[in-house]
Amino acid sequence: MRTSLQHGLSRKQLIKLDFSMFARNTFSMPLRFMRNSPLALILLILNACSGMVDVPSANFNSRIDYLVIHATSENFEQSLRLLTQPSENSVSSHYLIPTHDDASYPRNRLQIYRLVPEHERAWHAGLSYWGEETGLNDRSIGIEIVNEFKCEGTTNPIEETNPEDINCDFRGYDEEQIARVVALTTDILSRYPTINPIDVVGHSDIAILRRSDPGPNFPWKVLYEAGVGAWYDDETKQQYQQNFAQKMPAIASIQEALNQLGYLVEVSGRFDRQTRYALRAMQLHYRSEDYSGNVDVESAAIIWALLEKYRPQKMVLL
Ligand SMILES: [Zn+2]
Repeated sequence: MRTSLQHGLSRKQLIKLDFSMFARNTFSMPLRFMRNSPLALILLILNACSGMVDVPSANFNSRIDYLVIHATSENFEQSLRLLTQPSENSVSSHYLIPTHDDASYPRNRLQIYRLVPEHERAWHAGLSYWGEETGLNDRSIGIEIVNEFKCEGTTNPIEETNPEDINCDFRGYDEEQIARVVALTTDILSRYPTINPIDVVGHSDIAILRRSDPGPNFPWKVLYEAGVGAWYDDETKQQYQQNFAQKMPAIASIQEALNQLGYLVEVSGRFDRQTRYALRAMQLHYRSEDYSGNVDVESAAIIWALLEKYRPQKMVLL
């Protein structure tokens, strides 16, 4: 059969032709034949099914608007089992990236493991919030990276736990592993070009009270320099830093700015626990030398520099 392109027909003409063939085939059959023949009835249904009319609408958006980076806190073998086998608390991610520094990894070369197709919903984010979006599993691709960090103190009731009560032993990431992360995320972003760089987030960004992964050693700036995710411009940060050294924004403004950036913070006007956790999350991502959750001039400057660059329409005026 010749293809439609060989006929030299436009898409519109093809739709018309397709429908007219369907109409001719269907309606030219003698009524008596159609009524009495099961075969004809099946043909009619098949024709009706294939008689698709394409009218592309301009009104739609991608289901995938976020990219979430995790660290597993387990070795490769345990991570793969947890992310692929059913359990009482089943979890998964779209991809798993191993590390060389792991006796349980069975190959010589680091390879990217695909666990859930991108168009399906993986269970990696849990209770989450970012940029007015709750339940990030619905709208994101999740990448788990093998890294055996450990945190203590996170199982305490959150009402009794301050950021300084969480003790984490964070591990580093090897260069080849990060090269795999860059290759994978670059490829994903090329297929979902509408993902805003500020919406490439860590688990700790979207679950500020519960999670610390991928941790302060994850090289977000290296990813940014490779074209993945967000980073502030130094010059802009310096300018804000000079201004804020003279006069710090009020806590309410810092809360609003964190919230506009994406973090789950209520504007209470008080330097409360939720604000400390949001600051800790921002610092884990963008100012990893000190992620105590305390408020300081540099942290405020980074928040405003990021807002100005990535969410200018949500700028919090001082
Ligand atoms: Zn995680």
